[in-house]
Amino acid sequence: MIDFRSDTVTKPTKPMLTAMMSAKVGDDVFGEDGTVKTLEEKTAALFGMEAGLFCPSGTMSNQIAIKCFTQPLDEVIADQTAHVYRYEGGGIMFNSAASVRLLNGDRGIITAEMIEKEINPVGNVHHPHTSLVVLENTVNRGGGSCYFLRDIAPIYNLCKLKNLKLHLDGARIFNALAYTKDAAKDYGKYFDGISVCLSKGLGAPVGSVLLGSNETIKYARRIRKVLGGGMRQAGFLAAAGIFALDHHVERLAIDHRHAKLLEECLLSLPFVKQVLPVQTNIVIFELNELKDAEHLLIELKGNGILCGTFGVQTIRFVTHLDVDQEQIMQTIAVLKSL
Ligand SMILES: *Cc1c(COP(=O)(O)O)cnc(C)c1O
Repeated sequence: MIDFRSDTVTKPTKPMLTAMMSAKVGDDVFGEDGTVKTLEEKTAALFGMEAGLFCPSGTMSNQIAIKCFTQPLDEVIADQTAHVYRYEGGGIMFNSAASVRLLNGDRGIITAEMIEKEINPVGNVHHPHTSLVVLENTVNRGGGSCYFLRDIAPIYNLCKLKNLKLHLDGARIFNALAYTKDAAKDYGKYFDGISVCLSKGLGAPVGSVLLGSNETIKYARRIRKVLGGGMRQAGFLAAAGIFALDHHVERLAIDHRHAKLLEECLLSLPFVKQVLPVQTNIVIFELNELKDAEHLLIELKGNGILCGTFGVQTIRFVTHLDVDQEQIMQTIAVLKSL
């Protein structure tokens, strides 16, 4: 099977497994796992932030960040496509007792002007207190669309002015960096928190790192424990993350090329209405009246290809480490034959 359902489906490579098997470990809840510490410090340094916290999932690292940056009855501003809102099970309400104000960005990309209009007046008892803005880069439901740092700077300035925290859901931040050519190191200046996934395009089996100031991460460590996310000999998993950072970042450009090849093919097909312009490793396309998504999914599956639907007429392909060029060519041949 050629599996385009998500970039989470990758399995550890042999050299990654070797790195995992030879990791030095200890009890990380006691602060004694050197490999976890190395991963946390390495990721923080990469993004120009003070400290990091290894978490079991991106959902947990986002939810911890939101807990750190809000009080009950606060409000979070995010785009309506945001993973923190749509795909984290309503966790903002459950974990942080906060509400969410949703914006209609362009493919999930929101601007300082849009945010400013939705900040509630301070001190008026009618309104929840706006305290946090969450951005996503790349935007999953936006079809892997990217913020450039020049788009983020005005949002950062607004947040400073209005006394709001700014968090980045960077599940695919390295895909964004590959596209924008912005420097990871510059990100730390703009965000109070950054969640970096190791188990998406980077190909590690498990884990995300939450980045922030020393003070934020100290509190985040406490919240992680409360959520049951304190892991013992987690160095085996952290070693996969370190390996991924060292060996699987450069190659993301390959996934992006593969996504472009799929886009080019899809644009030529009679049953495709439109394709969201491909910037990174996500290809979202809409079908016209000639086919519906459920049928296409079955046809593709019959030809050894898996993908996901994003609505009745919409399909998503995600390219990753476990799909090579030959499989892309095979997929293109199948698509053309349908
Ligand atoms: C996958 C993903 C996450 C984290 O998901 P987990 O499965 O919990 O690791 C967060 N944000 C975005 C945009 C994602 O795509």
